[in-house]
Amino acid sequence: MLKSTTHVLTRRFLLSNQDVRQIGTAAEVARQRRSLKDRVAVITASTDGIGFAMAQRLAVDGAHVVISSRHQKNVDEALAKLKSEGLSVSGMVCHAGVKEDRTRLIEKTVAEFGGFDILISNAAVNPGGVKRLLNCTEDVWDKIFDVNVKSSFFLAKEALPHMEKRGKASIIFNSSILGYTPNCGIDFMGAYALSKTAVLGLTKLMAMELGPRGVRVNCICPGLIDTRFGSAITQDERSKQLMQINCPLQRNGRPEEMAGLAAFLASDDSSYITGSNIVAAGGLQSGF
Ligand code: NAP
Repeated sequence: MLKSTTHVLTRRFLLSNQDVRQIGTAAEVARQRRSLKDRVAVITASTDGIGFAMAQRLAVDGAHVVISSRHQKNVDEALAKLKSEGLSVSGMVCHAGVKEDRTRLIEKTVAEFGGFDILISNAAVNPGGVKRLLNCTEDVWDKIFDVNVKSSFFLAKEALPHMEKRGKASIIFNSSILGYTPNCGIDFMGAYALSKTAVLGLTKLMAMELGPRGVRVNCICPGLIDTRFGSAITQDERSKQLMQINCPLQRNGRPEEMAGLAAFLASDDSSYITGSNIVAAGGLQSGF
C-alpha cells in the first residue's frame, strides 16, 4: 500500500510542465468532444419514457432540445419539468405519423434556430390486440409501419438539408432488441418487431448514402426498459419470463441508460461511428 502510494507521488513529482500542459489540453479536448454546447436537438416522442430521458440528458450536456409528442398537455408538463431543472428546451405537438406535424416540427425549429444538429426519431407504436403475426390486419400493419418506419425515414429526409449544412449532423433512430429477434416468442409484438427490423436496415442504408455528406446515422436497440410502453411486456408473465431468463444482467433497463447512449451518439465522441445499430439490452442475444 505504502509502496504504491509512494510510486504515485514520485510519478506526480516527475511530471514536467509540458506533461501538465498536455494533460490539461487532453482534458479540455475530452470535455469538448463530450459536450453538446451550441447544438440543437429535435426528439420525437419525448414527453415521457426513453425520449424524455434523452431530452433531459442532451440538455444537461449543453444542447437546446426541442421536445414533442401527440398531446399538448404532455408537452407542457414535460417542458415545465425540464425548465424547472434550468435546462434549455422548447416544444410542440407532433404526431410522428402525421406528415403535416413532422413538417411543422422541422419548420418551426428551423425558423427559431436556423437549423439543427441532432435528430432522434424515437416514436413507435404497437396497437394492442395483435396475437401472432398472421392475425395482423392491414390497418394495424399500416399504422405500425407508418409510425415506426415511414415516419423515421421521411422525418430524417426532410430534416437533412437543415442539418447537414451545420457540419456535425447526427441522426439517431430507435429500434429494439426485438428488431434482431422478432422470433423471440413474444407473440403480441410480432409486427412491431418486424418494423424494428426494418429500422436496422434503414440505419445501414441511410448511413451509406449520407456518410459522404458528413451526416452520421446510428440506431439504439434497447432491451426491456421500464417505461409505460415496456410495461406491456412486464405485465405479461410469459413475456416477462422470456426476457428475464435470457438477460445476463438479470434486470430491466432504465430510460437514463438509453439516454447516455444517445448523448454519446450525438456527440463528437462518436464522430467515427455511423451505420451502427447499437444494442443496449443487458446482454440479450442480438444476432440474426
Ligand atoms: P413510453 O414511455 O410509452 O413513451 C411514449 C412517448 O411517446 C410519450 O411521450 C408519448 O406521448 C409519445 N408518443 C406515443 N406515440 C406517439 C406518436 N405517434 N407520435 C409522437 N409521440 C408519440 O415509450 P418508451 O418505452 O419510452 O418507447 C420509446 C421508444 O423506445 C419507442 O421507439 C420504442 O419502440 C422503443 N423501445 C422501447 C422499449 C421498452 O422496453 N420500453 C424497448 C425497445 C425499444 P403522447 O402520448 O403525448 O404522444
